[in-house]
Amino acid sequence: MLNFDSILAAIAVEIRPLFGQGKIADYIPALARVPNEQFGIALRTADGREAYAGDAHTPFSIQSISKVFTLTLAMQELGDRLWERIGREPSGDPFNSLIQLEHEQGVPRNPFINAGAIVVADRLVSRLPDTQRAVRQFVSSLCGEEIAFDEEVARSEAETGFRNIALANFIKSFGKLDNPVEQVLDLYFHQCALSMSCVQLARACAYLCRDGASALRDQRVLNERQTRRINALMLTCGTYDAAGEFAFRIGLPSKSGVGGGIVAVLPDRLTVCVWSPELGPSGNSLAGMRALELFVEKTKLSVF
Ligand code: GLN
Repeated sequence: MLNFDSILAAIAVEIRPLFGQGKIADYIPALARVPNEQFGIALRTADGREAYAGDAHTPFSIQSISKVFTLTLAMQELGDRLWERIGREPSGDPFNSLIQLEHEQGVPRNPFINAGAIVVADRLVSRLPDTQRAVRQFVSSLCGEEIAFDEEVARSEAETGFRNIALANFIKSFGKLDNPVEQVLDLYFHQCALSMSCVQLARACAYLCRDGASALRDQRVLNERQTRRINALMLTCGTYDAAGEFAFRIGLPSKSGVGGGIVAVLPDRLTVCVWSPELGPSGNSLAGMRALELFVEKTKLSVF
């Protein structure tokens, strides 16, 4: 049996030379203040073993990892109708790009780029009365602990989120947002500002490696087919224009965020979450990506 504790501890040491080589996401001023020399890693096996190393209990801004949770809620609420307004193709462009939206008439390529997540947020606003509360409660119930929004991060992003404001207005101009732009973005900025640790994220995402059954109480979050589809989307679209590189180097469905977190899934086996705030050129954590690469090297675990 693999000794995860010692594997994760070794990885936490091996990534240290990468400190100082990436760049913190300073386009969101509240994120720019996070100390850079931090690294955490946590995993949870499908049958509930947990292991962690480094700053695995330190909460960070989950940013785009939240797109997995809102997609999950939207799939629960809308089933296949969700796909009338969102595609399932990798974009090959940065996460906040506007380019494809014009050619594709306001239908975002996939739910994991910003445009796609804004459309998902709109669908949720239409379906759930107190949407922010519903999202927070959903995530809290998945990890069995109260999860909160970092209001400072949400405010900071609302004040400087000109691209997201542009994206939402552009989609609205094609008639593809039903709710007011401000209301949709308020949800989007809040979901991105959820504050969670690696341990909490590895636990909350457990349903992705358990055919849709949550870690706690074994509750059904999604059915098997829906869960498989989220994993497929994470593999092809979860890390933006680095999704090909991720599949090549790591080979696990993954979702990253500009807070420096990455969640990766090995279906039927485990979820693993890494965090380190400095990012590489595609907006994915530099040390986090290296840590996942080391993890698959050391464990030989892969979907391939
Ligand atoms: N809140 C961030 C943004 O919209 C999320 C992007 C990310 O994590 N890739 O810019």
